Amino acid sequence: MVTVSTLAELDALASAIRAIGPVSTFVLGNGSNTLVSDAGFDGLVIKLESSAATPVVHDSEVTVGAGDSLPVVSRKLAAAGLTGFEWAVGVPGTVGGAARMNAGGHGSDFAATFSTAVLLDLDDGQMSERGKFAMEFGYRHSSVRSNELIWQVQMVLSPGSAEDSAEKIAEIVRWRRIHQPGGQNAGSVFRNPEGLSAGRLVEEAGLKGLANSSAAVSEKHANFIQATKYGSSEDVLALMVQIREQVLHVTGIRLQSEVVLIGFSGEHYEKWLNGCVE
Ligand SMILES: Cc1cc2nc3c(=O)[nH]c(=O)nc-3n(C[C@H](O)[C@H](O)[C@H](O)COP(=O)(O)OP(=O)(O)OC[C@H]3O[C@@H](n4cnc5c(N)ncnc54)[C@H](O)[C@@H]3O)c2cc1C
Repeated sequence: MVTVSTLAELDALASAIRAIGPVSTFVLGNGSNTLVSDAGFDGLVIKLESSAATPVVHDSEVTVGAGDSLPVVSRKLAAAGLTGFEWAVGVPGTVGGAARMNAGGHGSDFAATFSTAVLLDLDDGQMSERGKFAMEFGYRHSSVRSNELIWQVQMVLSPGSAEDSAEKIAEIVRWRRIHQPGGQNAGSVFRNPEGLSAGRLVEEAGLKGLANSSAAVSEKHANFIQATKYGSSEDVLALMVQIREQVLHVTGIRLQSEVVLIGFSGEHYEKWLNGCVE
């Protein structure tokens, strides 16, 4: 695993990639939407550090480092009197992970304020810029591929009032404390099928509280799986498969994973993963 915190380090990484040719890579944000196999990941993990130099604000144009924490950026922009990014205060990921996933909540998403991103192609070491249209944002989707690293994002927010934004943020934090569990989890496990709530489907299938060794469906929110401190990701994955099968049986709807599954390759997992990911 390499951590990158400056443009010079990113350049050095790009040169190394150009020199040695394509390697299997995984770009890690804060890991808040990721389930990694107990066997690990056989390749190069690249982790971006948060930058003390960002966000940089010019009027309502904002430049943020992809390794920056969403809750921190959300609070800083609110305090600067800019509105439109308050929703991100309760999402425990990074700017890069949120851009890639088009994370969202509370009636908004990353696409709403996105303007451009600077990306590094991890296959050929080339940097490029990508605008909003080319990002092809959809529900928890963007055009960013697994061999691309988002380095920086530009956003355009609206002028607002720091007091109003602070109030909005406090309300979001309150709402999350009431409706979402703490502890070890990766947020929503399954994507919402169009017009439906994955959590409600899991609940309808009677699976709230269902446990598999170190993993259990949250009693508070049925689309969250809680893992114990030294739990295994295989337990989580097996529970996901059990949920998917039971929901399919009861409702006729096949749930898809929202959580990014890393390192689960080989025959052993094939039958489990079949139909679980896009
Ligand atoms: C308690 C809790 C609440 C949550 N609430 C929400 C919510 O309300 N809405 C929501 O959408 N999500 C939510 N999530 C899920 C998660 O926080 C978001 O998807 C978040 O945006 C993921 O960011 P991350 O940095 O942790 O990404 P990771 O989990 O590290 O990675 C996710 C994906 O993004 C890629 N990625 C990460 N960084 C980069 C980068 N710099 N360049 C390119 N690709 C990158 C990874 O390779 C991976 O494919 C929640 C999670 C938790 C645990």
